[in-house]
Formats: sequence, structure tokens, C-alpha cells
Amino acid sequence: MTRLKMFLAGMAILLLTCLALMAQAPPAGNAIVVEPADPQIVAAMKDVSAQRIQQTIEKLVGFQSRHTLSSEVPASSGKGINAAAEWIRSELESYSKACGGCLEVKIDEFTQEAANRVPKPTKLTNVYAVLRGSDPTNASRIVLVTGHYDSRNSETNDATGASPGANDDGSGTAVSMECARVLSRHKFPASIIFLIVAGEEQGLYGSAHFAKMARAEGWNIEAVMNNDIVGGDKTPGDTKQDSHIVRVFSEGIPSNATEAELKLIRGVGGENDGASRQLARYVTSVAKEYFAAKEFHPLVVFRRDRYLRGGDHTSFNEQGFAAVRFTEYRENYGHQHQNVRTENGVEYGDLPKFVDYAYVANVARLNAATLASLASAPAPPAKVRVLTKALQNDSTLVWEASPGGLATGYQVLWRDTGAPDWENAQHFGNVTQATLPLSKDNVIFAVQAEGAKGHRSLPVVPVPER
Ligand SMILES: [Zn+2]
Repeated sequence: MTRLKMFLAGMAILLLTCLALMAQAPPAGNAIVVEPADPQIVAAMKDVSAQRIQQTIEKLVGFQSRHTLSSEVPASSGKGINAAAEWIRSELESYSKACGGCLEVKIDEFTQEAANRVPKPTKLTNVYAVLRGSDPTNASRIVLVTGHYDSRNSETNDATGASPGANDDGSGTAVSMECARVLSRHKFPASIIFLIVAGEEQGLYGSAHFAKMARAEGWNIEAVMNNDIVGGDKTPGDTKQDSHIVRVFSEGIPSNATEAELKLIRGVGGENDGASRQLARYVTSVAKEYFAAKEFHPLVVFRRDRYLRGGDHTSFNEQGFAAVRFTEYRENYGHQHQNVRTENGVEYGDLPKFVDYAYVANVARLNAATLASLASAPAPPAKVRVLTKALQNDSTLVWEASPGGLATGYQVLWRDTGAPDWENAQHFGNVTQATLPLSKDNVIFAVQAEGAKGHRSLPVVPVPER
């Protein structure tokens, strides 16, 4: 064989090998691409300070009791829930002053009629700050973070006995306040509300009042994140706590679903796809973007709250809002709802020394990143439907454009019906219809809007168009 022939034969083999490899290569994948981190959000997360959180929690504990029924104790005494409310309000005002008055600090005060755990009409005070959206057409969209500042000890109605409530829920109060402090240095198209409520321990009265007000006044709240017991209890000798994990609880079937909606949920297998569950999955997607999983990650629990329990997000769920609860991985029941004491060498009570401030800071960072992502993203697409008139193995989804003008495109997500989280995605341009070669019998779809900087809205699962 001449050298030329050998060379040509070699080239031919190389070419054939390349073609064979190309044929074997997997098709252009539909794997979900993690959004690039937004430098503004990274900067806000960096500003979250474990030391500030510690100061906040220690200050709250200093009021000795923040029991809801202590509202007859004057704020001037420096003790009780009024003094705590007054301090939270003044702190939020100071954050606002630092950003040129960018926060509207407000009080939602009302009289709770006598009820279970409320022996007589009692004044309740919720405190909140609004970071108004910078885009006039998107400012009516709201994302909200909350925690409760009331506390309790072993006696449900002990209004004045020591109730430090460092973890339950000084930690959640500190998360809401720290999010206000770091996010108020930035601008977002949609509005963010930082809420701190009373009355949780007596029966979710503060959040119930606030959620009803929001519903009655037609507030467009896209997401509620409730932080309750996010202190990462670090009892000496406890080897089962995990400071890398925060649990995120979400309901599957909406609390306020009508009979007709429940029938539809059964008909389409939508039991695992309520709006709150989409929010929980969204938190997971944000965590993948801003945390290394081995450092810190959410554990999504498919349950509205801990077993048979409830919290302030439940009040929002019952008014039809998407709402989830963040709670530490492993609770220590000797350090919540307990009189401060030592028995047989065991320390009881919800004391600051059991709080892991670095952990609370990570919870605050995850909350801040989720709030900022949603407030930067376009509104979700409206009226998302899957066409069902004709029986076919392809699936066609239609929707109305994301209101507010921020969307530059859309992404269709899907997963196997048994899969816990979205598995696949396909991008589409600025369109309102997409057909995929997949059977709606076998997968669950959702559509989310995408903005110019890659921020994505909450996904919306289609309803059938018949
Ligand atoms: Zn609590």
C-alpha cells in the first residue's frame, strides 16, 4: 500500500468512527439547566450576617416574654409583647432610613375576640415592611416572608412568666428582619413584604387576620415563606441534628379547593401539584443556584406541616395563597414551649445558647435568594391549559402571556408522574403555545415565564381545555 493509500484509509476510518460516535451521542438533552447566579442576589446573600441575627434574637429574648396575652403590659416597661413590637418596628424603620426611606413600615393592629387560648378580647399587633417594586406594572405582585414574634412557655396562657422564644420563633423573626435589611439595599420589579406576626402560639390569630385582609383587599401574593423554628438547635451531645438541611413543608392539595377543583385534581392526578408544592420545588431550584448542596440544602417534605401540625403559612393556604414552612432538620422539644429550668441535669427552655446563628444565616440566605428571584422574575403565565378535545399522543399547551411585560420567553417543564421534582425542560421563545411529543397521560407538565436575566417565574400546571 502506498503512503497515500494508507493515509486515505486512515482518514476514512477516522471519519467513519466520528460518524458512528455522532450517531451514538445522546439527542440534544432536555435536562433542566440551573440559572446563572444573579450578582445582585449574591451580594444580598453575602450581606446576611450571623452576628446581626444573634443580636436580633438576643434583643427579642431580652423582653423576657413576648406572650400574646402580655399586650396589657406597657411597652415603656421594656418587657412583654408591646415592647417587642415597638422595637421590631423601630428596627425596620432604621433599615428604611439606611436606604433613603425605601421601606414602608406598617402596623396591622386589631382586637382578637375571645377564643380558644384567648380568654378575653386582646390587642394583637403584626408589624411589616413593604419594599415596593421598582416596576410600576409589576409592583402589585407580592412575595412575602414571615415569622412570629410571640412566644410561650409550658403554660399556654402564662402571659408574663419567662418565655425566651429564641428559636420559636425568635429565629423566624430574625430571618424576616434580616431579609428586610439586606434586600432593602436593592431594587426589584415586584414588591417584597417582610412580615412579623403575633398570636401564633394562641392559634395563628395574627397570620389569619393578615391573610384575610390580603384576600379581602385583593392583594396579588404569589408566594409566602413562613420561617418557624429555624434555629438549628445545637444541644451539646446531639449528633442527629444536621446543620446542612432545612425542611420545607408544603401542602399538595390546596386547603381552599372547592368540590369542583377537588374533582378536577382527582381527574388529572394533580394531588402533588398544588401551588404551594410548586413554591417548595422553586425553593429547591434556587438552592441549586446559590448553594453547594453539601453546604446547605432544603429537604422538601410533601406534607403541609409537621405531622398533624400547622403554622402561619396555613393561614395563607386557607386563603388560597401559595405558602410553605421552613423548619430546622431536627427539633428539640425540651427547648420549645418549656419553662426555663434544669431537671435531673437536663436544661429545658428556648434559650439563645441553643441557637446556631450560622445556620439561621443560611436559612435567611435561602429565603432572601428565593424572594429576590421571584421579585426579579416575570409574573407566571396566565390561564395555562393543555388541549384535550382530541385524543392524541402529543401534548399541546396554550397560555396567555405573562402579565407585566417582563417575560422574554417560556420554559415547559415536565416529569414522570412518580417523580418528586421537575426532571426536564424545553425553552420556547416569546410564544403562547407549545406542542411536545409526549403524552399528557404519562407526564406532568408546567409552564414558567423567563425574564431577560434568566429569572424564572413560579411554574403553573395546566388545567384541561375541553
Ligand atoms: Zn412557632
